[in-house]
Amino acid sequence: MGIIVQKFGGTSVADPQKIHNVAKAALKEQNNGNQVVVVVSAMGHTTDYLVSLAKEVTESPSPREMDMLLSTGEQVSIALLSMAIQAEGGKAISMNATQVGIITESVHGMARILDVKTEKIIKNLKKGKIVVIAGFQGITPDGEITTLGRGGSDTSAVAIAAALNADRCDIYTDVDGIYTADPRIVPTVQKLEQISYEEMLELARVGANVLHPRSVETAKQCNVLMRVRSSFKLEDKGTLILGVDDMEIYKPVAGTAADTSQVRIVLTHVKDAPGNAALLFGKLAENNISVDMIIQSFGRTSGSNDIAFTVSKDDKAQTIKVCESLLPELDKSGEIYVDEDIAKVSIVGAGMVDRPGIAASMFRALANVGINIKMISTSEIKISCLVNKGNEKLAIKTLCKEFNLDCEEAAVVNGDLPPGETK
Ligand code: ADP
Ligand code: ASP
Ligand code: MG
Repeated sequence: MGIIVQKFGGTSVADPQKIHNVAKAALKEQNNGNQVVVVVSAMGHTTDYLVSLAKEVTESPSPREMDMLLSTGEQVSIALLSMAIQAEGGKAISMNATQVGIITESVHGMARILDVKTEKIIKNLKKGKIVVIAGFQGITPDGEITTLGRGGSDTSAVAIAAALNADRCDIYTDVDGIYTADPRIVPTVQKLEQISYEEMLELARVGANVLHPRSVETAKQCNVLMRVRSSFKLEDKGTLILGVDDMEIYKPVAGTAADTSQVRIVLTHVKDAPGNAALLFGKLAENNISVDMIIQSFGRTSGSNDIAFTVSKDDKAQTIKVCESLLPELDKSGEIYVDEDIAKVSIVGAGMVDRPGIAASMFRALANVGINIKMISTSEIKISCLVNKGNEKLAIKTLCKEFNLDCEEAAVVNGDLPPGETK
């Protein structure tokens, strides 16, 4: 008998009928002779609704109270799913993160899981129950409720699978696997049978929101076998995420992603002196602001540089505040520009490591369709270009063509939007 962890996202539990389908999927896995843990997200767009509700009450809700509010969404789902399993004739128990003991750092809104207690889960599995656990939430050692960041239920599921030494962690969602691009941007993309942890991690980090980046990081660290599959086509095997050594072949480019959630900040006339970059980025880090792309101009004659960087839109106001407070130290004549008109498009592939010319092909393909590149950043297996907002769809389509990542048939997406429409 194995242990299988199943995770169902918001679309998969959006209404009572869908919750019954999830109950059936869990019971089917149990009838196959497995012990089953199910991790669920909040129903449909509940979390978005809760965020907007808080914003109506105040422009700057306290992070602690935000977590208190957002964690309620998943609690509704676990209770309803347990009821549905019981109504289908099965045995189930719902548990929130406090009851399980999903211990996180003392950070609100983006906490990391430190430990998952398995005692109560195992006790209930042994009683023949399906254990239904609230994703996205945790509890600090001091008993404070935390959340893991948007999309974090994937990470809850993988962390629970790792702690239980589960045979597999199945991430059921509204698309039937990992594609070479978001099928809502380019409907005719290829489905991948398998992808390495490294490639999936990069894709998730650069904006493929099909998986929470930390879920892939945890799966890689703890060797959790992960599958992304459709909750609407249960028999489909989806996409397997596995270690580099188990991959059959690498294509130079495995996939692409677009991210429209960042803004670009430009600081002009930063004195060309040791310590200024450290001062700026140190202060941003102190304020918990993650910086993504950075570019510093070549201040050949003026004795000063322009520094441009990107941060999440959510951090825009705080970033401007930090920059304003530093301007007198960096240079009195400096100015701050904010560019919201940006999108980041990326290509990812473990096979690009020893193949020269991939970057040149990317830049040429974008130039051929008239797309200007504002910033570039690279890692060993990723190239990202910042382009003007509105160009991301054309850019991704173009890159899929350039690197043979598209196909004739449209992908299967069963969400609340037809394929081709962006969320
Ligand atoms: P869930 O609510 O189940 O967690 P998400 O909305 O978080 O679902 O993730 C599924 C969505 O991820 C899909 O509907 C799809 O639009 C998007 N997506 C982005 N990039 C990819 C990709 N490369 N392959 C598949 N889906 C992707
Ligand atoms: N409900 C949370 C969100 O919408 C977590 C998740 O769905 O994974 O971000
Ligand atoms: Mg998700």
